[in-house]
Amino acid sequence: MPGFVVVGGGVAGMRAAERLKDRRPDAEVAVLSEEQFPFYRRPQLGDVAAGRLPETAIYAHPAAYYRSKGIDVRLDSRVTAVDPEACTVRTENGALLHYDGLVVASGRRRARPGIPGSDLPGVVSFTTVDEARQVLSLPAGAEVVVHGDTIPALELVRAAAGRGLAVSYLLSGQGVWPEVLDVDGQQIAANRMVAAGVKVVTEATPVAVVERNGRAGGVRLADGRMQEGALVGLCGRFEPAVDFLPEAGTGLQVAADLSTPWPEVVAAGDACAGGGFNWLRSWRQGEQAADTLLAGLASTGSAGAETAGLASDQVHVFNTQIMGVSLVSVGRTVVAYRSGYSEVKSEVFGDFYKKLVFDPDDRLVGALLLGNVAEAGALEAAVRAGTERRHLNASLLEQLFEPTYAPHFMGVQCPVCRHEIQLEPGATAGDRVTCPICGVEFTLVQGPQGLIARAAG
Ligand SMILES: Cc1cc2nc3c(=O)[nH]c(=O)nc-3n(C[C@H](O)[C@H](O)[C@H](O)COP(=O)(O)OP(=O)(O)OC[C@H]3O[C@@H](n4cnc5c(N)ncnc54)[C@H](O)[C@@H]3O)c2cc1C
Repeated sequence: MPGFVVVGGGVAGMRAAERLKDRRPDAEVAVLSEEQFPFYRRPQLGDVAAGRLPETAIYAHPAAYYRSKGIDVRLDSRVTAVDPEACTVRTENGALLHYDGLVVASGRRRARPGIPGSDLPGVVSFTTVDEARQVLSLPAGAEVVVHGDTIPALELVRAAAGRGLAVSYLLSGQGVWPEVLDVDGQQIAANRMVAAGVKVVTEATPVAVVERNGRAGGVRLADGRMQEGALVGLCGRFEPAVDFLPEAGTGLQVAADLSTPWPEVVAAGDACAGGGFNWLRSWRQGEQAADTLLAGLASTGSAGAETAGLASDQVHVFNTQIMGVSLVSVGRTVVAYRSGYSEVKSEVFGDFYKKLVFDPDDRLVGALLLGNVAEAGALEAAVRAGTERRHLNASLLEQLFEPTYAPHFMGVQCPVCRHEIQLEPGATAGDRVTCPICGVEFTLVQGPQGLIARAAG
C-alpha cells in the first residue's frame, strides 16, 4: 500500500489528495497543513473580511468529509524539513512521516526578509482566515494602509473599504496593477476605489512599519512621508513557501509534468517558481501532480526543466475581480508603444472595457475584459489557437465591443474561483448554476451589462 504525503491544505493540495485517493483507494494519504482551519476558498476571504459572507460559507467541506474519503488531514502541522533522499517529512510538532510520493502544495507567502517592523502584530499579507478576522474586528473608522500590486492587496482594499474603514492604498508607481491593466483599466480600478472612499497614494513605497504600543501603527515611505494605519497590509512581494526543502533559495523548479529534481516529489499550485497567484491553475495542477505521481512519471528534473506556470500553461489566463469589477486577462495584455504589437479597444463605459492585442503577424495574443467577461472562453480559445485577426468570429467581435449585452456568447464569472462559466442559451436571472470547477452553487442576477453570479451566504 503506497503512502502519499501532501504539504499544504489549500486548493492544490486538497485536489491532489482527493485525486490520489480516488485513483488509489488503497493508498494512505496524509495532508499536512500549518493552518488551523480545514480547506477554504481563499478568493472569498475578502467577502468574509468585509462582513459580506459568514466565515462558515467559505469552508469547502466539514472535517468529516475528508475522514469519510479516507484522507488524513492534519491541521496545525507545519512542515519544517523534507529529506528527499530518505523520503521523510518532519513537522514542527515532532511528527516524522515516510512517503512513497510527496506533493509540495504549500503556496506562497510574503517574501523574506521583509522591511523592518513587518513581523509586528497588525501587519498582514491578507492570505488567511486569521487575517480576514483581523480586518473584521477593526472598529469603525479605523485606518488601514495597504501596499502591493497583487490580488491580496486589491482584495484587502476592497474588503476594508466595504467595512467603512479609512483605507489608504499605496502604489509603488502611478497606476494600479500595471502588469495586467493598461491606462484605461487602471483608471477604472482607481475610479472604483475613489468612489469607495479609498485614498490612492502614488509613488509610495514603504520602507519600514512604524510601531505604536507594540503593534503596527503605520508605515514610513521611501521619500520620508508617513502613512498611519492600525492595520498594515504588506502585500507587495510574495515567494514560494518552500523553505522546508533542501536548497529552497531559488524556489522550486518543476517540469511540465510537475515533477521535480527528486523522483518521488511533485509540486502543484502557487508553490511552483515562476507562477504567481492563480486559483484555477492551482486547482488543475493538484490533479495533474497526483496523476504524475501515480503514473510514476516523476523523472529526475532535467537540465531543460521549465517552471510549471510557463511550461504547462503557455497562455496565462487570470480570472479575478478588482473592487467588485469582473476581470479576465488572457495572454499578453500590456504592450509597449511602437513594439510592433497592435491593440483594438472598446470605449470605456463605466466599468466596461475590453481590449484585444495582436502580434506583429496580426495573430491574437491577448485579451483584457473588464466589467463583462462573457466572451472570455471564446477569446481564450482564439489566443491559444493563435488566430489571425481576419479569422476571428464576426459575431464575437460585434458582441465584444458592445456594452449592451447581446447573447451570442453567454458567460458569467464564478463568485468563488472566478472561472468564466459558459451558460446555456436561454439562461436567465433567477436561475441557479453550479460552477464546474469549484462546485459552488450560485444564483444569476441581472447586472448592468448582462447576467452576473451571486454567491450564496
Ligand atoms: C484574498 C485573496 C483573493 C484571491 N482571489 C483570487 C482570484 O480572484 N482569482 C485567482 O485566480 N486567484 C485568487 N487568489 C489566489 C488563490 O487563492 C491562490 O492562487 C490559490 O489559493 C493557490 O492555491 P495553493 O493550494 O497553491 O496554495 P494556498 O491556497 O496558498 O495553500 C497553501 C497552504 O499550504 C500551507 N503551508 C505553507 N507552508 C507550509 C508548511 N511548511 N507546512 C504545512 N503547510 C504549509 C499554507 O498555510 C496554505 O494553507 C486569491 C488569494 C487571496 C489571498
